[in-house]
Amino acid sequence: MTGTKLIKVISFDGDMTLWDFENVMRHSLSITLKELRRHIPGQASADLTVDRMIEIRNSVAIELKGRVVDLEEIRFHAFKRTLEFIGCYDSSLAADLNSLYLKHRFEDIELYPDVIPVLDILRSDFTIGLLSNGNGYPERCGLPDRFSFVIFSQDVGVEKPHSGMFLEACRHAGCDTCELMHIGDSLKSDVSGANGVGAISVWLNRNAVQNKTGIVPDYEIRSLLELTEITDG
Ligand SMILES: [Mg+2]
Repeated sequence: MTGTKLIKVISFDGDMTLWDFENVMRHSLSITLKELRRHIPGQASADLTVDRMIEIRNSVAIELKGRVVDLEEIRFHAFKRTLEFIGCYDSSLAADLNSLYLKHRFEDIELYPDVIPVLDILRSDFTIGLLSNGNGYPERCGLPDRFSFVIFSQDVGVEKPHSGMFLEACRHAGCDTCELMHIGDSLKSDVSGANGVGAISVWLNRNAVQNKTGIVPDYEIRSLLELTEITDG
């Protein structure tokens, strides 16, 4: 177990740590699907599902890996591909659907209830940052002015668990890796990445799932509020 006395900087993952991305993504896709069906009535659009749209988006992201890093652009290509899938080749409609999706994806996001209270407690003693493989801009997710640094993998060019992400956080915060504590819901991205650079890793396991990975976090918590006990230790 790594000591917590050295901690100066705390970085948070975004999706599924501070907000329920899966939920807002599905909600925003279902609104966008309704709009798509309004523009293109017929059996093909009636048969389209949110799950199918997610599959298309994920396969487009794999195809574009290394060529397109901007997540909003990947989402646009996914809408274009979704329309092509139902026989429609209209890239301006794809752009409109992407705008509608992004509007809801940001405006309808809900923070987990422990987020604001814990950030308010920790920020008086620590430098707080966001370290995300997603694109949840804090100012669009109800968290303006909460973070001293915000680092997205789409800007760094590598994704967690790559050490480059954690080193970039330390560079921004002006700290050594042993002075960084990182919190996230993903054992593979957050915990393994933090462990790899010698930072303190905290696994946020809200649903008490079993860890079958062999990746060992320094700390495991059910709620972000437990962070105050770790930093007091
Ligand atoms: Mg996450």
